[in-house]
Amino acid sequence: MARNRRKKSKRRAGSFRTCVGCRKRRPSGMTVRVVRGPGGELLPDLYGKLPGRGAHLCPDFACFEKATEKNSFSRSLRAPTRIEDPAKLFEVVLESSRNQIRAILSTAARSAWLIAGRTNVDNALRNKQVALLVLATDASASLVGEIVDKAKSGKVRCHSILTVSDLSRFHRGKPLAVLGIRHRGLARRLNTEIIKAFALTTSAEKTENRLATAGHGQLTVPAVRGKIRERNSGTSGARS
Ligand SMILES: [Zn+2]
Repeated sequence: MARNRRKKSKRRAGSFRTCVGCRKRRPSGMTVRVVRGPGGELLPDLYGKLPGRGAHLCPDFACFEKATEKNSFSRSLRAPTRIEDPAKLFEVVLESSRNQIRAILSTAARSAWLIAGRTNVDNALRNKQVALLVLATDASASLVGEIVDKAKSGKVRCHSILTVSDLSRFHRGKPLAVLGIRHRGLARRLNTEIIKAFALTTSAEKTENRLATAGHGQLTVPAVRGKIRERNSGTSGARS
């Protein structure tokens, strides 16, 4: 127990990264890592698995722009990098972030760590066996009201992402409006990814308006728009 705690605090203490755009330090889970591809192109590494030196950025388009202007990528990666359009890179990051959320939900479903549907989620909440809740963005208002209330009183974080039909793929094709994640570690990862996706989406939406107003190229916000929203940020989140 004490050993576990020590391990955890060590991991936390060492997991800060400096953004190459704004130079602010952030928890590494809340940064976007990019690496240099074989041709000098930048590749986002949201899975944290790509080898080699990485540069970290806030999930904010302004930092992608700043890093491009200052040529921080080449400096930080210690090799010439090619970046024509930070908006294109940001789009890829946004899409990968969404895929990462799907991948975590798939893992949960495969490993029976996913609690599907209102009745099962209710039971799990009562027995304190749920670490994170996900509501579909098109779930009925009554279900949303009920789940959000219960989540608050149980101090379980609850996010609203994807649609009933998107979530059905994690429930053998059957419509799914609410799900819970049982596994604490996986819930923490999913929580971080959702918050990051939320920040990326908000930034993309702002940028889209700014670039359009300035008559520059357009940043297309793919299917993510309007689909990732945090439902109750006031709760204390997935507990370990
Ligand atoms: Zn930054």
